[in-house]
Amino acid sequence: MKRILVTGGAGFIGSHLCKRLLKEGNEVICLDNYFTGSKKNIVPLMENPYFELIRHDVTNPFMIEVDEIYNLACPASPVHYQYNAIKTIKTSVMGAINMLGLAKRVKAKVLQASTSEVYGDPEVHPQTETYWGNVNPIGPRSCYDEGKRCAETLFMDYHHQNNVDVKIVRIFNTYGPNMNPDDGRVVSNFIVQALKGEDITIFGNGQQTRSFQYVDDLVEGMVRMMATENFTGPVNIGNQNEFTMLELAEAVLDLTGSTSKLSFKSLPQDDPKQRQPDISLAKKELNGWEPRIELREGLYKTIQYFDALLGQKRKALT
Ligand code: NAD
Ligand code: UDP
Repeated sequence: MKRILVTGGAGFIGSHLCKRLLKEGNEVICLDNYFTGSKKNIVPLMENPYFELIRHDVTNPFMIEVDEIYNLACPASPVHYQYNAIKTIKTSVMGAINMLGLAKRVKAKVLQASTSEVYGDPEVHPQTETYWGNVNPIGPRSCYDEGKRCAETLFMDYHHQNNVDVKIVRIFNTYGPNMNPDDGRVVSNFIVQALKGEDITIFGNGQQTRSFQYVDDLVEGMVRMMATENFTGPVNIGNQNEFTMLELAEAVLDLTGSTSKLSFKSLPQDDPKQRQPDISLAKKELNGWEPRIELREGLYKTIQYFDALLGQKRKALT
């Protein structure tokens, strides 16, 4: 049995990761400040005696003895990470320093949840790990993008200078149950809008693309990455199937049977035009890992989750 720390464990991805690690017979310590995460996501795990929940902010040092650390703490939706941009950078940079310092002291493996946003508005398509990216350092998205880029630098510097066993995964747009209905990202927005019969908000002309990965595929990739030896990454983890936002809206309308109308809003500044991972490196280094759940299947599961959640809310109001 390993003792594993998951920062940001009460968030969307973190809650799925905690569940998976417990299922494999590990002891899991979930650390979160509940900025965008919720205790509700981990209530089902609370009965497990090998699960522990700690309220803590990763910008402050944390002392514990663990074998592995997954560092996920950071708001991930543009609406939330721009709410307090300075805090977002502090979370990425100071959080990375604190977790790397901890890993160095206790000789733990440490995995960083990095992002496809390190590629910015990419001029290379699909994106390979060797591409250095096209990020605006002073725009509204920079607190997140540059914070994550700096965290990657810190991870590699602790590896080279202090021999810390680091792992970096660059996560591409991921969705699934446990997303916050007010998260603000496109999949949860479209599903909640469709289920409520509200207008579907398309930013820009809807021709920009993203490649959406179901959360179970990501968690599988992260666990495999942690298990690697002599491989630091960075490695892309994502689904290669690329869709325009209009195609995504059509799929959501079709699967929900909703009659919601499309409403076109202005495109946020620096919104990337296209995004698709090259996952050859992940396939090679992560024991043949590849995504298994395609968009419609994943959307269906996510719609079921939000439908139940909104149903509970409606019940509570009546
Ligand atoms: P999320 O917002 O649901 O989860 C983030 C969690 O971190 C939340 O529980 C939040 O309360 C916690 N947190 C934030 N600041 C903190 C702090 N200072 N101290 C302690 N806890 C803090 O988002 P998510 O989608 O689950 O993302 C998890 C990680 O994966 C993030 O690091 C994100 O950057 C990365 N990522 C996610 C995606 C995606 O598509 N979901 C894509 C790329 C990278
Ligand atoms: N988007 C949209 N409507 C929404 C929310 C987002 O059209 O209600 C667009 C957004 O402009 C972007 C894409 O969907 O082009 C993905 O946005 P998200 O915030 O989910 O992720 P990111 O831009 O960080 O990849």
